[in-house]
Amino acid sequence: MKAAVVSETHVGKVEIKDVTLPKLQNGQALVDVEYCGVCHTDLHVIKGDFGAVPGRIPGHEGIGIVREIADDVTSLKVGDRVSIAWFYEGCGTCEYCVTGRETFCREVKNAGFSVHGAMAEQCIVAADYAVKVPEGLDPAEASSITCAGVTCYKAIKVSNIKPGQWIAIYGCGGLGNLAIQYAKNVFNAKVIAIDINDDKLALAKEVGADLLCNPVTVGDSGKWIQEQVGGAHAAVVTAVSKTAFNEAVNCVRAASKVVAVGLPPETMDLEIVKTVLDGIEVVGSLVGTRKDLEEAFQFGAEGKVVPVVHTRPLEDINQIFQEMEEGKIQGRMVLDMHYNK
Ligand SMILES: [Zn+2]
Ligand SMILES: [Zn+2]
Repeated sequence: MKAAVVSETHVGKVEIKDVTLPKLQNGQALVDVEYCGVCHTDLHVIKGDFGAVPGRIPGHEGIGIVREIADDVTSLKVGDRVSIAWFYEGCGTCEYCVTGRETFCREVKNAGFSVHGAMAEQCIVAADYAVKVPEGLDPAEASSITCAGVTCYKAIKVSNIKPGQWIAIYGCGGLGNLAIQYAKNVFNAKVIAIDINDDKLALAKEVGADLLCNPVTVGDSGKWIQEQVGGAHAAVVTAVSKTAFNEAVNCVRAASKVVAVGLPPETMDLEIVKTVLDGIEVVGSLVGTRKDLEEAFQFGAEGKVVPVVHTRPLEDINQIFQEMEEGKIQGRMVLDMHYNK
């Protein structure tokens, strides 16, 4: 079957190859992939930022139909539509796995990084970890919820935002536009969208942001937000920028949380006096559990959150990575495995 594979010779590139997957083992299912979203994390993987993985099939925003199950599998049946997510499998027994924090399992497997992912015609999943896609949710849109959507949904959960409160969403790209929709339509919060690109802010406005902030125009966004609304009650930072993290800490009011989601390869400055005197919490949030994904899917199926997706053929993958690096992508690029069929 056809798959994108991390190149062994060209760092930062993938090659389209014919790959044979191993036979199914106990607990596994074989999925015919329909769609796979392209995520910034994939770019880190193919560049070897988390450790080199030549020969690996990337992709962790996969959606597909179960074609075959191992004899012992009871949680899925042939024909089910399921996800292939970054949180591919936990150990199931450690302190994180048994206390609702399974994404922090130290033995975790990640699709498209430590095991083969979904940028392929077929993918093997751990059946008990593949979350079913509800009826009524478009599979291309579901692919975007599998990672970007659930990541935002979880981060807003972690932020403890309450209805009617102000939440600042830093970065309005693939993650941010979904964060705005979850914040607005599921958590009933008021949303401040912050981005340095006016076209991304236009998208933010389209999906429901109440206040738009471009730091290029208004200067320090932290100061601006304090002036406009007396400070946000929480901030979620999806931007891949150290400046955004620093300004997020300054944009919140006392006793608020700043939730870190984006992954700039830098350290953030944290003013100790403000952190202490204002009781600021800075906390990381990593994708979401199976339960979080089930919930995030359901809100998609109910039409509360509509990912902005554009479908492309698998062969465009290197081109898409380049567009991503150049910051040209609006919403999410999704590989359509049937594009040419
Ligand atoms: Zn992702
Ligand atoms: Zn575990």
